[in-house]
Amino acid sequence: MKNSITKNTRNIRDILAKALKPEILSLDEVSSLINLRDRELWEEVFDAARQLKEKIYGSRIVLFAPLYLSNECVNNCGYCGFRKGNGKARRKTLSVDEAVEEAGMLADRGYKRLLLVTSEHPKLAGVDYLEEVITEIYKRTDIRILHLNAAPMSVEDFRRLKTCGIGVYQCFQETYHFPTYKKMHPSGPKADYGWRLGVMDRAIEAGFEDIGMGVLLGLYDWRWDVWAVIAHSHRLIRKYGFGPHTLSVPRLQPAQGFKPGKTNRVSDDDFRKIVAIYRLALPYVGVVISTREPSELRDELLSMGASQVSAGSKTSPWGYVEDGDTEQFETGDKRSLEEVIEKIAGMGLIPSLCTACYREGRSGEKFRQIAQQGNIKKFCHENALLSLKEYIEDHAPDNIKEHLVKRLKQESAKSSNGLFDKFKLIEQGKRDVHI
Ligand code: SAM
Ligand code: SF4
Repeated sequence: MKNSITKNTRNIRDILAKALKPEILSLDEVSSLINLRDRELWEEVFDAARQLKEKIYGSRIVLFAPLYLSNECVNNCGYCGFRKGNGKARRKTLSVDEAVEEAGMLADRGYKRLLLVTSEHPKLAGVDYLEEVITEIYKRTDIRILHLNAAPMSVEDFRRLKTCGIGVYQCFQETYHFPTYKKMHPSGPKADYGWRLGVMDRAIEAGFEDIGMGVLLGLYDWRWDVWAVIAHSHRLIRKYGFGPHTLSVPRLQPAQGFKPGKTNRVSDDDFRKIVAIYRLALPYVGVVISTREPSELRDELLSMGASQVSAGSKTSPWGYVEDGDTEQFETGDKRSLEEVIEKIAGMGLIPSLCTACYREGRSGEKFRQIAQQGNIKKFCHENALLSLKEYIEDHAPDNIKEHLVKRLKQESAKSSNGLFDKFKLIEQGKRDVHI
């Protein structure tokens, strides 16, 4: 018994050393992490995830908000407040002007990066509509990059969205377990498992190099689904030379007329493990945590492998203007952007509203090369500080300004002189200053 424990410990430590090199883990190695039972060894895994995040991205945490465009849906996903069969839902699709108004409101609060989210409705929220919304938000607001979480579409439609400036295209398989998928998605285009499974191939064919993937944790055994999404990523890496730019960890929440069951419930402890496994399995991936999760857990995960978080989110269309009664699901972290920024800074991390890589065309293959050479951290660090300086100048409320200025000083002391020249430019009114 003693020998086998030692062998397992050695195996896990070898896996962690490989991840820290950093190298992509094999599926067998991922399985070893998923099946690890030893509590003490888990602490070593968490510690490795923490170190790896710091090694690749430094201490910056990227912030964004979702902007829900429509909740009118032709699908009937059993877990979603927007499902067609939810007779109680108050339905709304934002007009283009309303979408621009909400985006403008968010830009006024300091956000530079938004994730557009929409239900599936080819007539009301199809590609023509999305194209117009994206174009007008870029034209009429200070938002600098838009990502998109929308239903799978054809290569041709993806090309149009890529052309109008979407950064990351995000879509979750929900579950890779076919019988559970069929049960949870009884009707509408989403009932077609294969159409969803091939979505990233079509997005890549259309020119998207930055794709966001994930599974909806709680639908099926997380061990199976987490392994499957990593296996899917491996397949993309083999075929195209790259896998997901981000992995999200949506965990099933209550929604109008839906309460998650106990069978496949993902505990907080398992949730921590999943974040660490994603971080270690695919070292360059951005691990994204939404406001579905409670604030204390989110804060804890910030120093344990997560690299991007949404903040101050509303999950209904027009939710930033008036609190609607039809959220897609309940959120656990209700803090505003400024509260989350203050918290991140207080933890010794750097809140980042940076969009520099998209401004400089450092996406896709270019981004991956820089990351693999171990140089992305340098860009992330300075740009995070420049974005924080801009936030302090333009948006920070008085009660947190002093604290942020102090934090900026501490971090800038470790940086090159050039950074101070750029701070001056920002003070003189120049915007979007980055390297
Ligand atoms: N309608 C598109 C689709 O289904 O792919 C994209 C947008 S959907 C609004 C975004 C994601 O929200 C879904 O992929 C699903 O994983 C997640 N979601 C839906 N209901 C949820 C719930 N009750 N709790 C947590 N996440 C949920
Ligand atoms: Fe519609 Fe997406 Fe909700 Fe399913 S998850 S009902 S497709 S919005």
